[in-house]
Amino acid sequence: MQIMSNENAHSETDLRAEGVRVTRQRLAILHVLREASDHPRAEDILTRARLQDPSVSQATVYRTLAMLEKAGTVLRNEFDGAGARYELADRHHHDHLIDLDTGVVVEFQSPRIEQLQAEIAAELGYEIEWHRLELYGRKAT
Ligand SMILES: [Zn+2]
Repeated sequence: MQIMSNENAHSETDLRAEGVRVTRQRLAILHVLREASDHPRAEDILTRARLQDPSVSQATVYRTLAMLEKAGTVLRNEFDGAGARYELADRHHHDHLIDLDTGVVVEFQSPRIEQLQAEIAAELGYEIEWHRLELYGRKAT
């Protein structure tokens, strides 16, 4: 099992190639996502983006996140139904463990789990296209 670190770089050029119009506000939002390792909520993204570019509005953040999600650049996670949390999509596959006391999201990758899921799907006559695994827990005392 491997705990993931946050490395990624979705460039402006990639976005242009995907037909996304790159504006200063959108770049500020992307920069926030690139720097973030905490799966921020839209409100957090707004606060951080405004530090770079005070002209970023709440509407811009919501519109941009929806657009980036549609373009496949951003992943929207609905952990525990407590509101969406975002991360860039161009990263190695990983699963999430959510700390129920703090809301901290830990990323991990387990070849054993990946293998087991593939085996289960195969037994049921399927090939997995994608999956989402979330663990919810509290720090053991
Ligand atoms: Zn993640």
